[in-house]
Amino acid sequence: MENMKISCLDLKRQHQSIKEEMFAQFEKVYENTAFSGGPFVAAFEEDFAKFCGTKYAVAVNSGTSALHLAMISLGIGEGDEVIIPANTFIATPWAPSYVGATPVFVDCTPDTWEIDASLIEGKITSKTKAIIGVHLYGQPFDIDSVKDICRKHNLFLIEDAAQAHGAKYKGTRVGGFGEMACFSFYPGKNLGACGEGGAITTNNEDYYKHLQSLRNHGSTERYYHDEVGYNYRMGGFEGASLKVKLQYIDGWNNQRRTVAKRYLTEITNPKIKMQLQPDFTESIFHLFVVTTHEKDAFVKHLADHNIIAAFHYPVPCHLQKAYAHLNYQPGDCPNAEYLAEKCISLPMFAELKNEEVDQVIDVINRY
Ligand SMILES: *Cc1c(COP(=O)(O)O)cnc(C)c1O
Repeated sequence: MENMKISCLDLKRQHQSIKEEMFAQFEKVYENTAFSGGPFVAAFEEDFAKFCGTKYAVAVNSGTSALHLAMISLGIGEGDEVIIPANTFIATPWAPSYVGATPVFVDCTPDTWEIDASLIEGKITSKTKAIIGVHLYGQPFDIDSVKDICRKHNLFLIEDAAQAHGAKYKGTRVGGFGEMACFSFYPGKNLGACGEGGAITTNNEDYYKHLQSLRNHGSTERYYHDEVGYNYRMGGFEGASLKVKLQYIDGWNNQRRTVAKRYLTEITNPKIKMQLQPDFTESIFHLFVVTTHEKDAFVKHLADHNIIAAFHYPVPCHLQKAYAHLNYQPGDCPNAEYLAEKCISLPMFAELKNEEVDQVIDVINRY
């Protein structure tokens, strides 16, 4: 049993299980030569908006593009500031950087590892235009607290939901809490395309129309361009693959929850700390991250027992070289820095077998 390697993510099991259905759709895309945008993407957009409980969804070619277009459609640009948690994937702060605005980093709480709402107001200046909250590891951040601050200071709220397709906050799915929400369909995400992909959800028709134009060269009528736009369209194969997978996402998310529940209750080793799961959130467990003081020894122990850990993310955004010019120092976001230094991602995907989960739990409890 222990000779079997268990990694953080195995994409093959899921894709084998739906291969025939997937290939049947690919054949249709091929026969229709619907390779860029087109009916397969439109059909997925409609389903995805329904899934999120929003009026609209605009499919694009990546989560990073989704965040970029969100900034443009909200009019964020040169000289503006956007508040972002320090512990997120680097694509979140890229969004303001792409439009000449500045990301302003806020620390996370020591237990939920989500943005610490109590620190946000201290970072607001006359230049602040928006907050991008991140539903980290699949768990919604404290949306109501952040929304109150947005209302009080007249700021836009954007959800970075790249890790949280179907996650719930106080019983409602993420995607419609702010002006817009940005999703990623990178293959490793809970809902991953056979290729790259992303989407923006919104309930605002003006944003919806503008986003549709922006992703397509700033054009609503072919060869007439009202503003500088982008080629951020989603491909037909990606759209078709996502429509197939969307039928299964609730089941897959539930399987992840089952694994997570076992980790949360059966890992009893006091040296291991897990992300606090507040009552008002329903995580979809994109990742299952733990921390421990002696990380290297723990990772070696796992590897010695054929469990291959991963690290999300080893350097917090405010200390990345790309942002050296912003002059953040170690100690500016201590909780995010601790997490970066100590984080270990355990195996987490829907198709994990019970025996594999047994093995992970057993190995960790013996550490
Ligand atoms: C994956 C991810 C993105 C970027 O999505 P891509 O599709 O890879 O461009 C943005 N934000 C977060 C939090 C992510 O995890």
